[in-house]
Amino acid sequence: MKEIQIGGLVSFTTIDYPGKLAGVVFLVGCPLRCAYCSNSHLLDVRDGEYDPEKVFDWIKSRVGKLEAIVFSGGEALMQGDALLEYMQRVKNLGFNIGLHTNGFYPETLQKASQFIDWIGLDFKAVNKDKYKELTGFDLAYQHMLKSLDIWLQTGKDMEVRMTCDPRYISKQDLLQIAHELHDKKVPKIAIQKYIPYKEEKDCPTTADERAQFFTDEKLKEEINSLFESVTWRE
Ligand code: SF4
Repeated sequence: MKEIQIGGLVSFTTIDYPGKLAGVVFLVGCPLRCAYCSNSHLLDVRDGEYDPEKVFDWIKSRVGKLEAIVFSGGEALMQGDALLEYMQRVKNLGFNIGLHTNGFYPETLQKASQFIDWIGLDFKAVNKDKYKELTGFDLAYQHMLKSLDIWLQTGKDMEVRMTCDPRYISKQDLLQIAHELHDKKVPKIAIQKYIPYKEEKDCPTTADERAQFFTDEKLKEEINSLFESVTWRE
């Protein structure tokens, strides 16, 4: 089996796994091409810069110092069985396992759910047409919905995240998504402000357009009333 390809590492974070001190391992490769991606250096499938065994030795050295290891990307699940095997080894060290995912690989998520304790799942747009506009693939929407249902069936902890890029999501869309998640009994969501990582000359957004989701008190109140927890990340 090919070993996992690692393109980045964060040695300590308090924000990538709710309530736990964590390290983050970034895997290379992603099937999507989101217009707002800030990790473009991780998208292509290639050999990673980090030796997985050295990273594993480092993870081992964090036993008793960190509580969780989060797998992120790119899309970590793209690496299939190699990732599952590595996750199991990390889990056996006693860490909580987190995953940041776009939901594109529901079957792999199902298999990995035995090792994973928490996921942060992206819900990027309101329907498959908007998904296609944003990510390049309309199938990404159906895959994400399947992943969401699979994870809800596990009963494990999760956060569903919406990044509010005003080019691809409106306040009406956000409210519609919130009601859909409420109907599915999703307990925790996060609403994240879109922060441009570079000047996008062909499709600019203004600061006011980006802030509109966070300044509308009526919208916030309605969304807050639907969930056990809503995190507004500005
Ligand atoms: S899913 Fe994430 S890593 Fe992949 S293109 Fe979109 S924003 Fe970038």
